[in-house]
Amino acid sequence: MDCIFCKIIKGEIPSEKVYESENVIAFKDINPMAPVHILIIPKTHIEGANALDKDNVAVVSEIMLAARQIAESFNLENGWRIVTNVGEDGGQTVKHLHFHLLGGKKLSIELA
Ligand code: 5GP
Ligand code: ZN
Repeated sequence: MDCIFCKIIKGEIPSEKVYESENVIAFKDINPMAPVHILIIPKTHIEGANALDKDNVAVVSEIMLAARQIAESFNLENGWRIVTNVGEDGGQTVKHLHFHLLGGKKLSIELA
């Protein structure tokens, strides 16, 4: 399967890793939209939030707890945002479930 994020998990594509656990890794986004822009992903290939079901959804809890920990390590005590894009209209370009953790400035609500 030709998935960029699976290749990052396997170490076939380099990344700036900031967190790793048994089921989750997080690394810096290559094209940051904020001073802190981290991608948090499950190590198993799940296509996106639309592919979540009762058998694989537990990893989302782990991702949320990882997000808290990463936010703390980047000193985002003033606040942060977590976002997942789904499908074409949602702007999802990589078909491996990922959560954007954004912070380090006052973020605007720009939905267009
Ligand atoms: P999406 O648009 O699917 O929600 O987000 C995909 C994100 O992955 C984008 O923000 C993009 O900059 C990031 N990205 C794409 N390819 C790579 C890569 O090879 N390395 C890293 N670190 N980020 C990537
Ligand atoms: Zn994948």
